[in-house]
Amino acid sequence: MKKLKIGVHGLTSCYGCQLKMASLKLAENIEIVYWNMLSSKGEIGKVDVAFVEGSVSTGEDEEELKKIRENADILVAMGTCATHGGVQGVIFGEDYKKCFKEIYGDNNIEFDGRIGEPIKKYVKVDYNLPGCPPEEDEILYYLATFALGSYPEEKDYPVCAECRRNGYPCILIEKNKPCLGPLTVAGCKARCLKYGIECTGCRGPLPHNIAWFDSLARTFKERGMSKEFIKSKMEIFGKQYENMEELINKVFE
Ligand code: SF4
Ligand code: SF4
Ligand code: SF4
Repeated sequence: MKKLKIGVHGLTSCYGCQLKMASLKLAENIEIVYWNMLSSKGEIGKVDVAFVEGSVSTGEDEEELKKIRENADILVAMGTCATHGGVQGVIFGEDYKKCFKEIYGDNNIEFDGRIGEPIKKYVKVDYNLPGCPPEEDEILYYLATFALGSYPEEKDYPVCAECRRNGYPCILIEKNKPCLGPLTVAGCKARCLKYGIECTGCRGPLPHNIAWFDSLARTFKERGMSKEFIKSKMEIFGKQYENMEELINKVFE
């Protein structure tokens, strides 16, 4: 069987997705062409599949990403930083400039820092592998389908579906907790709900414009939560969702 050539790359990130992938035993028919974190291995070169972790947060990230894209038949955005901008994508506009100044002061910074953005804003993304980090079974599923010459099916249903299926009590309804399960793409088997902790949306909002921020914001509002509180919860992983602010604002007009 032909070997599947892969590259694994980290832009601005915590390297957690790569670490998760590195902890797995990969099949013998997978050949690692480039994986800098593990072995400083190789130059960015031709691969069947490139897995890209992290957001574009510097000019150097953009350059590297474009080079990766040119050399990959398939490009996968791996993890919430890559798919949605991640937590570093929360700070915008003047706030970003202020934070940058507070952290780096007047030092001569060599990199071209900018607001963290999902990689789809710069290159064509073929598949999204969500999670912070992605689940082991999902990483293996993506690798296996590519190795077989097939393609992975992305999840388009929310964490609530897994929560209900597992029979966990709904802590939004029963305990008034600000759970983001209805907005968040499934795959973690509702891990936090298993422990009675509300979902903070770490896998990112649902794809295909079906993350109904307005509907959930209205539910939260009816339960006495303020606009500021709702926004602060929803923007952690949803800030870069196309019309998040607009959807929340309209509930409070
Ligand atoms: S998605 Fe989460 S685990 Fe992956 S690089 Fe970003 S912060 Fe780290
Ligand atoms: S607890 Fe959260 S994830 Fe579970 S059903 Fe309720 S809203 Fe959905
Ligand atoms: S329940 Fe929500 S916050 Fe917890 S792991 Fe799943 S997606 Fe992330």
